[in-house]
Amino acid sequence: MRYVIIGNGAAAIGAIEGIRNNDNENEIILISKENCVSYSKPQLYKMLKKDSLENIYYRKDDFYNKYNVSTILGKSLNSVDFNKKILVVDKETIKYDKLLIATGAKSNVLDIKGFDGELFSFTNIEEALKLKEALANKDRISILGGGLIGVKLSEYLHNMGKEVFLIVGSKGVLSSLGDEKISEILNNEIIKSGVNLLLSRKIISAKKEGPKIEIKLDKGSITCDAVVSCKGVKPEVSLFQKTELTINRGIKVDDHMRTNIEDVFAAGDVTEMYNYLEDSYCNIPILPNAYGGGYCAGINMSGGDSKIDTVYPMNSLQIFDVELITMGLLSPNENDEVLFSLDSEKKVYRKLVIRDGKLVGAALLGDIDRAGILNNIIRNKVDVSSIKEELLNAKINFYTLPREMREIIVKSYTEGIK
Ligand SMILES: Cc1cc2nc3c(=O)[nH]c(=O)nc-3n(C[C@H](O)[C@H](O)[C@H](O)COP(=O)(O)OP(=O)(O)OC[C@H]3O[C@@H](n4cnc5c(N)ncnc54)[C@H](O)[C@@H]3O)c2cc1C
Repeated sequence: MRYVIIGNGAAAIGAIEGIRNNDNENEIILISKENCVSYSKPQLYKMLKKDSLENIYYRKDDFYNKYNVSTILGKSLNSVDFNKKILVVDKETIKYDKLLIATGAKSNVLDIKGFDGELFSFTNIEEALKLKEALANKDRISILGGGLIGVKLSEYLHNMGKEVFLIVGSKGVLSSLGDEKISEILNNEIIKSGVNLLLSRKIISAKKEGPKIEIKLDKGSITCDAVVSCKGVKPEVSLFQKTELTINRGIKVDDHMRTNIEDVFAAGDVTEMYNYLEDSYCNIPILPNAYGGGYCAGINMSGGDSKIDTVYPMNSLQIFDVELITMGLLSPNENDEVLFSLDSEKKVYRKLVIRDGKLVGAALLGDIDRAGILNNIIRNKVDVSSIKEELLNAKINFYTLPREMREIIVKSYTEGIK
């Protein structure tokens, strides 16, 4: 029996740990086009300063030895034949018995009319190092896109002393979270920090004029030294498009991380999983989903039985000293109930979205206390009708929850991942 894993991110690491939970004997081969050990992408910003890759390792570099994994690093998967269970990696043929596809996501790079200069992006180590090198002699940086990566990158570059222009198409940053109040509070914090935030702007064209770049917007223009595209990511499915794999936006997997092809599993940013809150398959490119999906796949690949049936978006970040945690759905349907509290002076905002008596979404900004309790309540689909007002209170604690609710939450902990 041979397990083959394509990728070396959080999903791949989760899968190795899942497989070795059941099977210490059989061979695991890991193939990754990046020639380095697994690193943590949420810490990629650190690479812009003096940090070395070692400081952002996802696991220690003896991990592969410890888990008895053979690595093929710095080589790309070129093609796959699912019928013969064969992969081609740099002209070499590799046979698999169980395969995990964990190729992650790639940058959604903008196509800017007329621009023949270098457009940077920031989704992997190679892109981060390229940007770092370029930054050495560049002071005015434009960042295109007000999502999580664009906003966090603008904070980092601003703290490094750069003049930052954050150019956003919508009315506010993090608009995909679906909560205007969060966007409004963060817009104000970003402006206060000194980052030049340009909202509701369309990029018309850009051109290089010697070492400078001029970006023409629908309202005004900007002259800068470098442009970074932060327009999100898309699943890295290009190699599998012409195969029998079921792919919509990402590779579709069931609650055991199985694809439609026997013995082929997928996990992480490359997938689409069933989001029970939306009642649809969604690509949710966040680290907990990648690791959790990989671990679940690893258990199932090695003969166990693990299921993930509570997938929904979650985000946790700190921007310019404001902490924010969001989970589940924040844009309510017309029949949903929305409860919120706002202390504008202290910049503390809490919001709950309740559907049919159950908590389906929560946002905590400025005071993230009790986020874990709220997440457990969403995950366990607990009826909160009797305590919904109390849930808004940051001081609610586990022991103030009704007994039946505590029992459901404790049970989910003790049963753990199956
Ligand atoms: C800058 C940044 C900040 C982030 N911040 C957060 C955060 O704060 N919180 C959070 O939850 N998530 C965050 N994320 C998202 C999170 O990092 C991802 O969800 C997670 O890394 C996905 O893991 P993965 O294993 O699916 O894919 P990846 O980590 O992308 O790994 C994909 C792997 O596949 C390999 N690969 C791809 N194609 C091939 C091929 N053809 N042949 C061989 N190998 C191949 C790559 O080399 C890589 O090893 C952030 C992402 C970025 C880029």
